[in-house]
Amino acid sequence: MGRWIEVGDGVLVRRHEELDLSLGLIAGGRGCLVVDTGGDEAQGAEFAAAVREVTSLPWSVVLTHAHFDHTFGTAAFGECAVWAHPGCAAELEAGGEAQRATWAEHYRTAGRTDIAESIEATRIVLPDRLVRDRAEVDLGGRVVRLLHPGPGHTGHDLVVHVPDAGVVFAGDLVEQGAPPAFEDSYPLEWPSTLGGVAALGASTTVPGHGEPVDAAFVAGQRAELDEVAALCEAVAAGTLTAAEALERSPYPASFTAGALSRAGSR
Ligand SMILES: [Zn+2]
Repeated sequence: MGRWIEVGDGVLVRRHEELDLSLGLIAGGRGCLVVDTGGDEAQGAEFAAAVREVTSLPWSVVLTHAHFDHTFGTAAFGECAVWAHPGCAAELEAGGEAQRATWAEHYRTAGRTDIAESIEATRIVLPDRLVRDRAEVDLGGRVVRLLHPGPGHTGHDLVVHVPDAGVVFAGDLVEQGAPPAFEDSYPLEWPSTLGGVAALGASTTVPGHGEPVDAAFVAGQRAELDEVAALCEAVAAGTLTAAEALERSPYPASFTAGALSRAGSR
């Protein structure tokens, strides 16, 4: 079950206990835009029902990136436009079944058979409105901007900017309450990509996980990501050992190790 937070006029965040997930809803005069859909079809159905309690406007969906917790709920929204970066579509098509297997196993091992079964039963929906660089979605009296600011948490993150409300939905480019996740990341590029998000000038940034944050939080996270990128570069240059990098990182060792591995693999 989730709870709503209002971060602007007609701009809402649905907070879920599972994975501390944050999903979005932006209402215009003629339509509404749903930001990410949850981690399985049942969670998507619960979110869709919550949206319907807020508005009866026709909806479209935007996916910030291909990770299962942001995309596997899409089928619950039925026939509608689904916006995403082409890399998100490619990853869901090529890697969706692998994500399903990994996460069903994860939840089964954790004793959450209900979630595992729901993930196994989920229909994976591919996005059909592809945004390589930027696009605008007119909701009627409100234009929402979709933007790919560059590689970061993944190679295909899309952020959702609501200029009239001063709100940006940043997907997992920003994370509150836990360190950023590096397993599919571009650690060297992430800081400048986040700089591009900050340059949108939003007063409220909604992370993919955790509570909405202000510009100072985003700047702080960028500074930490800068530190991680510098550590990755120093290890690659041979001026620092991996163990020293783990020691000096602002993040726990397992997270930094992920960043080192991603930076070193390219
Ligand atoms: Zn993610």
